[in-house]
Amino acid sequence: MEKLPSWAAPQPVKKNLLTMRDEAYIGYEPLGVVLVIGAWNYPFVLVMQPLIGAIAAGGDPAQPHPSWGGGWGEDVRAQSRCCVCPAGNAVVVKPSEVSENTARLVAELLPQYLDKDLYPVVTGGVPETTELLTQRFDHILYTGNTAVGKIVMAAAAKHLTPVTLELGGKSPCYIDKDCDLAVACRRITWGKYMNCGQTCIAPDYILCDPSIQSKVVENIKTTLKEFYGEDVKSSPDYERIINKRHFKRVKSLLEGQKIAHGGETDEASCFIAPTILTDVSPESKVMEEEIFGPVLPIVTVKSVEEAIEFINRREKPLALYVFSNNKQLIKRVISETSSGGVTGNDVIMHFFLSTLPFGGVGHSGMGAYHGKHSFETFSHRRACLIKDLKLESTNKMRYPPGSQKKVDWAKFFLLKRFNKARIGLFVLALLAVVAAVMIKVVN
Ligand code: NAD
Repeated sequence: MEKLPSWAAPQPVKKNLLTMRDEAYIGYEPLGVVLVIGAWNYPFVLVMQPLIGAIAAGGDPAQPHPSWGGGWGEDVRAQSRCCVCPAGNAVVVKPSEVSENTARLVAELLPQYLDKDLYPVVTGGVPETTELLTQRFDHILYTGNTAVGKIVMAAAAKHLTPVTLELGGKSPCYIDKDCDLAVACRRITWGKYMNCGQTCIAPDYILCDPSIQSKVVENIKTTLKEFYGEDVKSSPDYERIINKRHFKRVKSLLEGQKIAHGGETDEASCFIAPTILTDVSPESKVMEEEIFGPVLPIVTVKSVEEAIEFINRREKPLALYVFSNNKQLIKRVISETSSGGVTGNDVIMHFFLSTLPFGGVGHSGMGAYHGKHSFETFSHRRACLIKDLKLESTNKMRYPPGSQKKVDWAKFFLLKRFNKARIGLFVLALLAVVAAVMIKVVN
């Protein structure tokens, strides 16, 4: 809210010789009606954070909304146009039905604080979301798995609606031999097992040299004890798997694996202990899909080159983590791979720095939000150029009939790059043009 006036203010842009007398700026305007579809793993924040961005987006709060037309939400559009409203989008909020209590809570709370016609909450499952997706929106922000991301994008394409897709994937974590393993493993343990591993940017698997694999296991075990005590099941800080379907899915990933730690499960309470798998084959099931649970496979690689190759052979991940005392090595991994975001010598933390855009790339998503990036995601950047009607003679070169002379002048005026030596020439030429124009005007 503090920054909003400066973000929403028209941003002046550099001008060229042809436009130096004009007003040129980027104007921010809200897109219209936004649909926010949330996922279950952080069910409150995953709808509230985009909602805040969508409300904040747009232009000068003193200005009326631009006129919207057509499609779904005509009522919403009409209302937001005529009310004494802040600039910003109207938003339809669709929380995940999987975390049904939070969905109900959002539906109950939001109308108590926001205009229910401008920010309606739609609860329900696949049929309701499918129905919503048949309607026309001006932007859709979807958080969830990649398969449904494709469904959302296909539905949006029918109305040429732009999308932000916040998806998932397998986020790798490379640990260099030259590294403080106790610190690295404490940070990894925190990021991996928080929310019972159900975090989109949790480190999905570890890549490390075979010589440090057992030390990594020992350090994670020590940290688990530090965090959750001797009996993790009775720890108030250790969560459960969201439902039976996901419990069965995660449990099945343990089949045939070498369990170095954990592995205990309890279906009745959807409990899966923090688990570490060692010597995992890259071809195994657990390395095929995003784990999204408290299971941490270790795949050994003999060098950083092999780790980079391993990462690059798979879909671009949402996050990437590298631990090393050697900053050069961290930079190298960053420059030779691609991912939505990256944190060196820690996990998750890039998410919390709101000046960084949060989003995926390739199969882990498209577009980004957080902080100013949310404002930009839900705004249209309008190119604005305002001229006056004077000095018409300077426009002659763009009107027919054409001539080589006009082309030469056009080249001269539109030339964007010039070195310092040329600046003097430009100023001279400009003065000559101004003088010529003045003479013409006086005559
Ligand atoms: P989910 O099951 O809650 O589904 C998300 C939303 O999609 C729900 O609102 C649901 O109603 C809707 N949906 C489900 N199936 C649909 C269909 N066939 N047609 C239309 N809509 C449908 O969540 P999920 O997909 O299990 O979420 C987990 C995934 O989300 C993981 O891959 C995780 O990495 C990813 N995720 C990403 C982020 C991020 O910010 N990038 C954050 C959280 C989770």
